[in-house]
Amino acid sequence: MDLLIGTSNPGKLDEFQELLVGLPLRLLSLKDVGLGDMDVAEDETTLEGNATLKVDAYSKASGLVTLADDTGLYVDALDGAPGIYPARYGGPGLNPQQRRQKLLGELVGVPTDRRTARFVCVIAIAEPTTGKTQTVRGVCEGWIATEEDASGGGFGYDPVFVPQGYTATFSALPLEEKNRISHRGLAAAAAAAILREMAQED
Ligand code: IMP
Repeated sequence: MDLLIGTSNPGKLDEFQELLVGLPLRLLSLKDVGLGDMDVAEDETTLEGNATLKVDAYSKASGLVTLADDTGLYVDALDGAPGIYPARYGGPGLNPQQRRQKLLGELVGVPTDRRTARFVCVIAIAEPTTGKTQTVRGVCEGWIATEEDASGGGFGYDPVFVPQGYTATFSALPLEEKNRISHRGLAAAAAAAILREMAQED
């Protein structure tokens, strides 16, 4: 079965390629199906709402079974900010490193035990022939480091997020290890069960 991965984020695409390996699927990117420039406005107020918006739009445009995710980052000491729009944190025009610096700046002086945070990922899967869309969730608890990890791995907030039980950030972990414990990895495990069933029916 063909499966369109509805993301224009290269970091997410790499992770999904690893996470869905071994399933009887041919993975296609937005570029592969000529939708590389298609942008979907994320204006819902929940992760489920935004993941569903994206997946339905890409599935309708391609006619393919499609998977998309929406991810939030919630920092307890900041009343849950950045929240459901981490890509917009700090306002428009900032690059990912500037957003990370903004986050670290907001937490200056906050001790480690109060720097708790979590990533929440919602994956939506849309089936165009039935019009049915399903969502699953994965959560990864952790804390925000006091400075940026310079190891260079990962994307987004990876250089400042330390998963629970670890001393290194997501950036420093091999992708295989991040995928085993991450919000996206846990949601993808639930998504894989749905996809396996769909592929069998195909
Ligand atoms: P969205 O889910 O495409 O709206 O992306 C939200 C933003 O969250 C991304 O642009 C990244 O900055 C951040 N993000 C999502 N997933 C991860 C992750 O696994 N690690 C680090 N940052 C992430």
